[in-house]
Amino acid sequence: MTYVHQTISDLKRTSPAQSEFYQAVEEVLDSLGPVLEGNDRYQKQAIIQRIVEPERQIMFRVPWVDDKGNIQVNKGYRVEFNSALGPYKGGLRFHPSVNASIIKFLGFEQIFKNALTGLPIGGGKGGANFDPKGRSDGEIMRFCQSFMTELYRHIGPTTDVPAGDIGVGAREIGYMFGQYKRLTGRYEGVLTGKSLLWGGSLVRKEATGYGAVYFAQYMLEARGGLLEGKKCLISGAGNVAIYTIEKLYQLGAIPVSCSDSRGTIYHQAGIDLDLLKELKEVRGVSLVEYLQKHSDAQYIPKSDYPADGHAVWRFKADAAFPCATQNELTLEDAQALLANGCVVVSEGANMPSTQAAVDAFIEANIAYGPGKAANAGGVATSQLEMAQNASMQNWTFEQVDDKLKVIMKNIFNAANDTAIEFGQPGNLVLGANIAGFRRVAEAMIEQGVV
Ligand code: NDP
Repeated sequence: MTYVHQTISDLKRTSPAQSEFYQAVEEVLDSLGPVLEGNDRYQKQAIIQRIVEPERQIMFRVPWVDDKGNIQVNKGYRVEFNSALGPYKGGLRFHPSVNASIIKFLGFEQIFKNALTGLPIGGGKGGANFDPKGRSDGEIMRFCQSFMTELYRHIGPTTDVPAGDIGVGAREIGYMFGQYKRLTGRYEGVLTGKSLLWGGSLVRKEATGYGAVYFAQYMLEARGGLLEGKKCLISGAGNVAIYTIEKLYQLGAIPVSCSDSRGTIYHQAGIDLDLLKELKEVRGVSLVEYLQKHSDAQYIPKSDYPADGHAVWRFKADAAFPCATQNELTLEDAQALLANGCVVVSEGANMPSTQAAVDAFIEANIAYGPGKAANAGGVATSQLEMAQNASMQNWTFEQVDDKLKVIMKNIFNAANDTAIEFGQPGNLVLGANIAGFRRVAEAMIEQGVV
């Protein structure tokens, strides 16, 4: 058995029942063959065994009182995965599906994503199995306060700086920041994604979606193509999906779909972005309401999705931007996209494509940008927020957006050049994994056995 396979097999034995985590580990480690072959330094330093084991995992009880006076209890998590390159950095997810496996997969991905940005940030992730849907503002606030009442002792501007993710936006960040300040008496840059009124950065809200579109543009340019005029499928209707759609319009592309957990909208004329923002950012209602204004659009409820995948990927388009959640794009979805002439896939979400779907994209040699590269604009802009907080400065929208573009270009170049170096031009999965891994592994070696 090879070094990598032995490590994966040991991991499954010692960390049982964590399928999403194994999937993320296997996806990264499978790419590392070329860098491990002929270089026994990493093996001698036990880098693979060390990198798959979080430095610290915190699990805690989050008790709170709902509006009816009932006591509710949720599970809270923070996985501080790797600090070789800087303070742990990664979002908090509030969603009923959250468990230790999902937080570990996200934290593991975050290590390599953050390394790829070239910025001084380590990898971490956290969250809770709390469902914010249908909860009042008061309930959200009490939950966030209870969550922070444990989390505050583990985080700090130079140790661990959480941000948002699914179910955690500026409102939740605000409530958590307020509680942190109350508990510690310190006003400091301990969270990113803050309100623009008190320490947030311009472009942070837009950054992940904008970045995924910039990444698609760089991939296409390298192949002599352009985004302009391309018909694009987008899944999701949250933060990442909305700002992906916004940037696609700005660059002359035509976004024709979006989806939420209940169904998919397909609108041949192009998604009405103002309406989407109103439905999701302002009112928080189901996408089915889109039809009230646009009777020419199609709504496909989840009950009508194909058994082997997601309705959104079955429409004809040139480009796909999965921006909802993990494993939302199956092999059959990938085959449908390819058969319909899709030439570029840029992942706004984390690990949205199953391993078989990824293999199909690589095999077809289309421009495929894995999430850890394509959606790194969010965390990169979080680091720009940290830099502004630490230097007590506020940069303009253009300044931050220009930096974001440069960072996304550098990420593309790092992944692309590394793929060429290892004899697989165009394979950005291999390129991103090896480029991110090398930066972390070298730092770990230089810092000794810790
Ligand atoms: P939001 O909570 O703003 O939006 C998530 C969207 O996806 C919603 O439309 C939601 O539907 C849908 N969704 C979530 N879970 C499921 C599910 N299990 N099944 C079907 N639909 C689902 O989250 P974000 O936009 O912030 O995050 C989306 C993805 O992007 C995640 O994978 C996240 O990890 C990743 N990401 C986010 C970053 C950020 O800066 N926010 C940075 C990097 C990656 P509904 O409206 O019905 O809830």
